[in-house]
Amino acid sequence: MTEYEIKEVIRKAKLLEPLDKPTAEKLELWNKHKLRFKHLPLDTIRITSPYGKRPPVTVNGVTKDKFHNGIDFGAKIPGKVGDPIYSVDDGIMRYVGFNADGYGKYTVIEHNGYCTFYAHLGIQELLINKSVKAGDLIGIMGSTGFSEKAHLHFGMCIGSYKKGFWENDATGKQVNGIDPTPLIKELIERQGKTHG
Ligand SMILES: [Zn+2]
Repeated sequence: MTEYEIKEVIRKAKLLEPLDKPTAEKLELWNKHKLRFKHLPLDTIRITSPYGKRPPVTVNGVTKDKFHNGIDFGAKIPGKVGDPIYSVDDGIMRYVGFNADGYGKYTVIEHNGYCTFYAHLGIQELLINKSVKAGDLIGIMGSTGFSEKAHLHFGMCIGSYKKGFWENDATGKQVNGIDPTPLIKELIERQGKTHG
């Protein structure tokens, strides 16, 4: 199968929007695993800042102008911390950590061929190197790190956690990062069909 044909298969399956400069490796992974989330990361899906380029963001007088490597989801009750956060797929919790100027308390889960990360958490489940199932509680929404109010920053990267998971290009975009929005939309549509 040529790269173009693989791209067509994926496009037809409506699993993702066009990737910028897709590599054959990325496309093969999407195709092979037919990447799909099994559970939404939150009970209420409300996007407050989409994936991609965005204007500079200022929090407490500090401005950052970076590619947005994930989707921000607002709290069920805007600004209120405490919403439960779930793993979107079966996997292994690889990282539970803290970054004061960035992601705050964040957790990384490695799935079959890709990783997801959940940032600005208030409380993190300490399941390091333990298996988690799709829908398992992995944390509680907070507003830690570079965050103005309660939200979840949710991102994903292709590949295993060890393989340069955090590598950024000149714009601050993760080299292996991809937009999780199509997968969130696909799951919402699929659930809608199941529940009538
Ligand atoms: Zn974010």
